[in-house]
This record gives sequence, C-alpha cells and structure tokens, in this order.
Amino acid sequence: MSDATPRLDLAFMQQALPEARLIAGQNGEQNPAISGASQDSRQIQSGMLYVALPGERVDGHDYIAAAADNGAACALISQQPAAPLPIPALLVEDVVTALADAAQAWRRAVNPSVVAVTGSSGKTTVKEMLAAVLRKDRPTHATAGNYNNHIGLPLTLLNMPAKTHALALEMGMSGPGEIAELARIAEPDIGIVTNILPAHLAGFDQNGTVDPETALDAIAAAKGELIAGLKPGGLAVLPADDPRFAALRAQVPEGCRVESFGKQKGEAGFYYAGLEGTGQGMRLSLSSRHSRAAMPVRLQAVGEHMASNAAASALATIMMGVSEGTIRQGLESFQTGAGRGRVTQAKNGARIIDETYNANPGSMAAALANLSWLGRPHHRVAILGDMLELGAASDKLHREIIKQIGDAGIDRVFLTGTEMAALWDLLQHAEGVRAEYEPDPADWLGRIGPRLRPDDAVLIKGSRGMKLERLVEDLTGK
Ligand code: ATP
Ligand code: MG
Repeated sequence: MSDATPRLDLAFMQQALPEARLIAGQNGEQNPAISGASQDSRQIQSGMLYVALPGERVDGHDYIAAAADNGAACALISQQPAAPLPIPALLVEDVVTALADAAQAWRRAVNPSVVAVTGSSGKTTVKEMLAAVLRKDRPTHATAGNYNNHIGLPLTLLNMPAKTHALALEMGMSGPGEIAELARIAEPDIGIVTNILPAHLAGFDQNGTVDPETALDAIAAAKGELIAGLKPGGLAVLPADDPRFAALRAQVPEGCRVESFGKQKGEAGFYYAGLEGTGQGMRLSLSSRHSRAAMPVRLQAVGEHMASNAAASALATIMMGVSEGTIRQGLESFQTGAGRGRVTQAKNGARIIDETYNANPGSMAAALANLSWLGRPHHRVAILGDMLELGAASDKLHREIIKQIGDAGIDRVFLTGTEMAALWDLLQHAEGVRAEYEPDPADWLGRIGPRLRPDDAVLIKGSRGMKLERLVEDLTGK
C-alpha cells in the first residue's frame, strides 16, 4: 500500500475503465477532480460524476445537461451523444458494469477497512451503529440511508473521501447472486449477517411452490454470499442463535475467521444480557470473550433485536481495534431512524413505537414483543399493515401473527391492507382482543387517535409500501 492519498479524477476513471472512450467536453476540462457520484441529476453537486443510467421510464442520458448545470465534473454514459456535451464523458458499453469497476478500483486505492452488513432485517440499524462507533475512532464513510443495491453500493464507494479509514456498507438483495456481486465490488474485510428471516420470499418463490423452510435455506445461501466473498484473512460475524448459523458458517472460506454474537453465553464472541426498559430506551450488558468485564450500555432504542444489533456492532468494531470505551460511547449516541423503532408520543400522551419503515414476519414478531418495554400500559394497541413480498406463503404468515398478538398481550388491534384480511378473519373469533379492519390505511386517518388513552402503548408497523407513517403523523400531529 502506498502512503500517498489517492485522487479521484477523470484520469483515475480512465485507468479503471480501459475500454471506455473519452469524449471531450465543450468546457475544455482535461482531468477534472471528482468529488463523488450520483445517478440523479438533481442530486449532483459541484464536481461530481454524473452516472447516466438507462431506466425503464426515464433515460439518464436525457439529463446530462441538467447534471452539468448543477456542476457535474464529468459523466459516465453508454450512448453516443447526438450533440457535443458541455462536460467530458466516458462512453462505455454498460454503465452499471463500468460503475462497479470504477467503484472497486476506488475501494482498492483508498483501502479502508471495509465492514459490510447483510441479513433479513437490521442491516441499516447495524450499519448506523457501526458508523456511530467508528466515527468516534477514525475517518469513516458509510452507506447513506438504504443505498444497498448494485447501484447504491458502487455509488457509496465512489462517494468515499480519499482519506477514509473505515467503510461501513449495507448490502441488500432480492435474489441469489446479488450479494456475491456486491461483495466482489467491495471486497469486505468483515462481513456481518444479522439474521435469516422470511423477508423478501417472493424473489425466491416465483411460482409459489417453494416451502418456507426451503426458501429460508435459499435465503441463507444468498446472504452467505457475503461470507463466501470475504477478502482472504477476513472475518465473518454471524448470529449464534440463528437456526441457519451452521449453514452460514459452512460458507466461510478457508483462511477466514468466524466470530459470533447472540444471547448464548459461552457460544458467542459477544453476547448480551440483562435487558431492562428505561421508558425511552433500554439498558443491557455486553460480554465478550475478548474483554474481562461486562460492558454496560444504555441504548436509545428498545427490543431484544436492538440488543442483538448492538452485540454484532460491538463485535465487529472490537475486532477492528476500537476500544471498549469508544464502542460504548458510540452505541449510546446511536439513534434509530424514523420508522425503525423510534419511541414517540401521540397528541394525548400515549407512547408509540414507530415501526412504519418496514415489516416481515421476523421483525413483526420482534416489534409486537417490544411493546412490553414500555411498562404496564392501560391497553397494548397494535396498528398493523400488510407485510408485502411474501410470495405464496403470505396468507399463512399473516395468520401466524395471531400467536404473537396473544404472546405480546395485545388488547386492541387496528388492521389494514389486503393481506391483513386473513388475520382479521381469525381475530374475530379470538378472546381477549378486539380487532377492527379497514382495507385502505387512509380510512383510519382521524379515527384511531380519539380512541387511545394517554396511558396506552401503541405499535404501528407495516411494509414500506403501506406508508403507515401517515398514521403516525395523524396520531402525533408531527
Ligand atoms: P431493508 O431490507 O428494508 O433495508 P434493513 O435490514 O436495513 O431493512 P432496518 O432498517 O435496520 O433493516 O430495520 C428494519 C426493521 O427491522 C426495524 O424497524 C425492526 O423492526 C426490524 N429489525 C431490526 N433489527 C432486527 C433484528 N436484528 N432482528 C429482527 N428484526 C430486526
Ligand atoms: Mg436497510
């Protein structure tokens, strides 16, 4: 590794893309510096690379002039321009492939420690926890928001400043092979798998014929592509208590190490215990075979899944050489994003767990159980929308929520969405719980708030497509 700070500029791109043809720009710039990259001309800021993606409805090539107006330094294109371009461009066969190649070259040039997170749920949360810890220790770059696919990940890499020492990446997928490609580009030193749950089953069950256990095996294999794609000498951070732990471990390449996290004392590299609600969050202790004493941590979030996410983050960062004190400070400063378990209040004071960002069967069970962290309310209320993309198992998986509702001691349920009709059917014959249903979430607007008491505890959860944040806004007035 050379000590010189690398420079991202047009010449660097040309070197990374030897097949690309340079088309000079009218502005006469020979080798402009590149300050980052975006595929959206509206997001382009001065000095950035504009990536012209051919879309289904809009073609990025139509927006090169707009990107240049916003200050783009140069563009990556796959169509011969009809008229001269204001800025220099690299003409390639396929923009997505070129984007991946350039991103990989920049990753190698900057050479940070790369920690990548995949799993069925908790990816963004763990990535944000890692970033919160690592930022306190060294120059860190991380995936912005949920930019976790074959476009978002390479853009994240190209947006990485030259002096970055640690890079925290989120890797998402909707089918086999996708994580392998992301790992090929990012060459992770550490790979974390949060868990294997029935999320995004549709991608694995196109014909509706695959049984859920087989689908879970396929998901484990696909998430495991991150582990199989680790850099030589890399580290796999795996969920000790997950039924697919052994299947994941089997994918660890020779020469790579394995550490695990979970609640099983002794088994795991980092395990959590002593979870206790604090009203606005939770305290817990993290113990490790890498440290002598247990580490007390106060999280601004609730739920066992958050303890698990914290254990995974602590494990990865301690293996990166971060001190326990810094890990603790980082985890304690971490805040959940809107919709990802943030605790908020209704206009009348009822406390709400806002889980509107997304839902799948695993996260649904965890979120319902989380209501118990809010102490002993008058009523436990669940406002639930469809879990989407579950393929043929959808009906069954929605019906199964009835058990979780019973276990969590929920008194009142407001349901919405087409898939939730199956659960409503069952709940009408259930004892100890009152359930009501409206197909369209908008039909609940203004109708739930007046029925909440100030001492109620409410969970609102559904898939992204249900947009249940409308109901949170309705209840909180924010
Ligand atoms: P996406 O696939 O949409 O990118 P993600 O994997 O990034 O999701 P997060 O955004 O971190 O997941 O969390 C989404 C939801 O998943 C949270 O609101 C919470 O309900 C649930 N969740 C988070 N962590 C876990 C976990 N370790 N186990 C189970 N559920 C979790
Ligand atoms: Mg995410």
